[in-house]
Amino acid sequence: MTNVQRITRKSERWFRRNQRDLPWRRTYDPYHVWVSEVMLQQTRMEVVLRYYERFLQRFPTLADLAAASSDDVTAAWSGLGYYRRARMLHEGAIAVREQFGGALPGEVPALMTIPGIGRYTAGAIASIAYDRAAPIVDGNIARILARLFGRRANFWRRADDLVQAAGSARVFNQALMEIGALICKPKQPMCDRCPLRDECRAFASGRTELAPRKRAATVALRRRLYVVRDRRGRILMRRDTRGMFVLVGRSPLAVGRKRIGTFRHTIMNQRVTFEVFTASGQQPTANCSWIATKDLEKVPHPSFVRKALHLAGALLLAASTLLADSRTYQIAADAKNTVEFHAEDTYDAFDGRTNKVSGAISADPLKPSASTVEITIDMASLNTGNTLRNREMRELYLETRQHPTSSFKSVSVAAPDSIGPNQPAEIKVTGDFTLHGVTKRMTIPVRVVLIPDGRIHATSSFTVHMPDFGINVPKNILVTVDDNVPVRLDLWAVAR
Ligand code: SF4
Repeated sequence: MTNVQRITRKSERWFRRNQRDLPWRRTYDPYHVWVSEVMLQQTRMEVVLRYYERFLQRFPTLADLAAASSDDVTAAWSGLGYYRRARMLHEGAIAVREQFGGALPGEVPALMTIPGIGRYTAGAIASIAYDRAAPIVDGNIARILARLFGRRANFWRRADDLVQAAGSARVFNQALMEIGALICKPKQPMCDRCPLRDECRAFASGRTELAPRKRAATVALRRRLYVVRDRRGRILMRRDTRGMFVLVGRSPLAVGRKRIGTFRHTIMNQRVTFEVFTASGQQPTANCSWIATKDLEKVPHPSFVRKALHLAGALLLAASTLLADSRTYQIAADAKNTVEFHAEDTYDAFDGRTNKVSGAISADPLKPSASTVEITIDMASLNTGNTLRNREMRELYLETRQHPTSSFKSVSVAAPDSIGPNQPAEIKVTGDFTLHGVTKRMTIPVRVVLIPDGRIHATSSFTVHMPDFGINVPKNILVTVDDNVPVRLDLWAVAR
């Protein structure tokens, strides 16, 4: 077997076992893959995960994106930064509608005729969405290839040789991306965990450290921002050349200037200290308009404006009006809502998740202790990613044919007096947990965040002592599983 074949086989095998569960990997829909690739340019994964689902809820299909106004698209992108990406994605969607009848093509040359799609993104869409043997090279992959083959290697040619030899281009390209993100990091690569260690030239020569890249010198700047309000509480905002709404840097007609604080924000190589003032005004100045606080979330604005509005309490005020009422929130049985089960010491042996979770949360942010929570988990949908293990888990362990659902019904909630938007709150929910036909009262800690657009995100980690529910863990079947199985809930609830 050649070196190239060894690299592709080992990478693909590693990815199949270790890939992260990312939302665009659930369907490999070409539009979803495209959106994720554009968002991931120059933005960390944790940040992208916060915006990706929201963006797709707003524009579920490529046709929806193409039909949207550029303001709506930029508003949905607010907070992600590098807004040129949003404009290019929008222009690209319009081009796909007009040139390709609304379906993203699967070949690299055709993809590269679409505005905003270069060689890397075209290769990513062709390989990840359509499983075509197209190479991709970004910063992470170039780093791995430099370590595997030496810095002078032609990276695109190497990437092409590899993907042509791969069993699946989709799996192999994502494997390289994942190894670059999780293992072969720029500093201190984790070679002891790397599947490519035996093929790696840098590892063999003990020279895995890369020479540091020269960075542009950081420039420190100071800027002033004014949160100017009129009598109705509206805020004075100016539209800049990118079409973004920004706060004014000064306003000759504003009165009662008051300094409320400073914050730091980094844009490219500029470290800017923003000084925020509040003031009152009656007339808009040139190129400016008054924006009502309830509309602040709808207009596109950069994240430093968001920080200034938070400092001035303006966004909190806008969000509070959305969240002030007592409401019932629905937990939909979709892929976003998951319950994960883990064995304590043998993660690989007993890692499963079910995403058929449904239920309702009735909550009043001003009186959270009066909330009620009801959750149903369809145990039959438990998926360990391994067919044989699924069968063992369902039939021998959880007996899902007899007890296909587990449920939780709250009896009391211990919480702070009130919960503000975007302010994570720790609460304790006591309730009756039914599993395997046995009901036990449990208290579970829950972390709740009220999202200003009217959603709740609740996460919880707790353990279930299996013998309490009449389940004796068959240690001989599932390797060794601790009888206290840690469970993690991740729920998004939408106001009904
Ligand atoms: S062995 Fe180390 S340097 Fe080589 S590819 Fe793996 S993590 Fe990177």
